[in-house]
Amino acid sequence: MNKVEVIIIGAGAAGLMCGIEAAARGRKVLILEKSNKAGKKILMSGGGRCNFTNLYTCSERFISHNPHFCKSALSRYTPWDFIAMVERHKIAYFEKTLGQLFCQEKSSLIVDMLLTECKKNKASIQFNQNITAVEKTSDGFMVQTNHEWYQCESLVVASGGLSIPTLGSSPFGYQLATKFGLSVYPTRAGLVPFTLHAHDKQRLESLTGISAESLVTCNGISFQENILFTHRGLSGPVILQISSYWLPGDTVNLIFFPQIDLYAELLRARLHSAESCLKTVLANFAAKRLLSVFYEIDCLDKPLKQFTDKQLQQVANVLQNWSIKPNATEGYRTAEITLGGVDCDEISSKSFVSKKVPGLFFVGEVLDVSGWLGGYNFQWAWSSGWAAGQAV
Ligand SMILES: Cc1cc2nc3c(=O)[nH]c(=O)nc-3n(C[C@H](O)[C@H](O)[C@H](O)COP(=O)(O)OP(=O)(O)OC[C@H]3O[C@@H](n4cnc5c(N)ncnc54)[C@H](O)[C@@H]3O)c2cc1C
Repeated sequence: MNKVEVIIIGAGAAGLMCGIEAAARGRKVLILEKSNKAGKKILMSGGGRCNFTNLYTCSERFISHNPHFCKSALSRYTPWDFIAMVERHKIAYFEKTLGQLFCQEKSSLIVDMLLTECKKNKASIQFNQNITAVEKTSDGFMVQTNHEWYQCESLVVASGGLSIPTLGSSPFGYQLATKFGLSVYPTRAGLVPFTLHAHDKQRLESLTGISAESLVTCNGISFQENILFTHRGLSGPVILQISSYWLPGDTVNLIFFPQIDLYAELLRARLHSAESCLKTVLANFAAKRLLSVFYEIDCLDKPLKQFTDKQLQQVANVLQNWSIKPNATEGYRTAEITLGGVDCDEISSKSFVSKKVPGLFFVGEVLDVSGWLGGYNFQWAWSSGWAAGQAV
């Protein structure tokens, strides 16, 4: 039987941060990771450049049944704290857009940084660990792996969510929470592309590769960024964002080119160049392929002088008051995050310990806290991992 003070399950973003902090306090820490590498999602993230935080992090950019839960940790370990670590390790970074910070070079620098900090503080990590049993004892937990039995005082579950099964995700954390009597909100894929019903798919297929700035609304929430038409359906940042608020059967409303008032542009164009055909004017804003899918050819070829005000309004509405009912999402196969998870009301927002089971901690994505696209999910992993690291 091996004795340590703290066992952390999962060497992802939250687990590594928790290990670094706990070990810095002098705790004897062992991180057990089921795959052969640490931080696989970090490596894959941000198109290989890891969008590691967001300068505008605030609780409103997270989805949870308890919207207040994330506040404490986010305010105690902020984006600036993580940036300070990144700068200490001389990792170059830049703001891409909307406060999103990316590595200048590659994501692996963030993993290397976290592993260097673990090593410096003497937090050890063991890979290829398959946890077969977890039992509560009078003074802690017994954890059995395919290799050993371990005993620890504090057990931190940092096993993440269900997205991208090939990157090591597993339902382990939810199952463990249930085993110890904690409730778990139903999970579903978030930050994920939409698939379409057959008739929409057929109609929009020729738009594959086209992207356009759009204002997208669903269930009272709106985002303005780019939509991307793909051969499977709809993607791009604005679709990933709204997917986290979409439920099966919901309609998504969309305004293409929200920065312009298309009706006003058409009225103006009719006034100044009445002989121009509609397609010439619309081509100033939209790709030709997009126009040929959204409008009849006869309509596109008609001179503007032949349109009444009402007809121009209808023409504008086609692009600026569009709605579509997605068939489904692409699911965990391509989702960036898992919505739902361990009920935050069962967890201390300060220490991340279970209110019911002393010594049992949950951090990161396994909790019912999900961020928007743009570095918020890593910030949650850092902040929650850091907070638990002060308490284990
Ligand atoms: C493709 C992709 C790109 C992303 N890009 C970004 C981005 O740029 N910015 C951003 O903020 N967020 C991004 N995210 C989301 C972000 O990766 C996650 O929110 C974050 O990694 C969650 O951290 P975590 O530590 O809770 O879980 P994870 O990072 O998923 O770590 C969990 C770890 O636990 C291990 N594990 C699971 N089960 C067990 C078990 N039974 N025993 C032992 N170990 C186990 C896993 O192998 C894994 O190493 C992206 C996600 C994906 C999938």
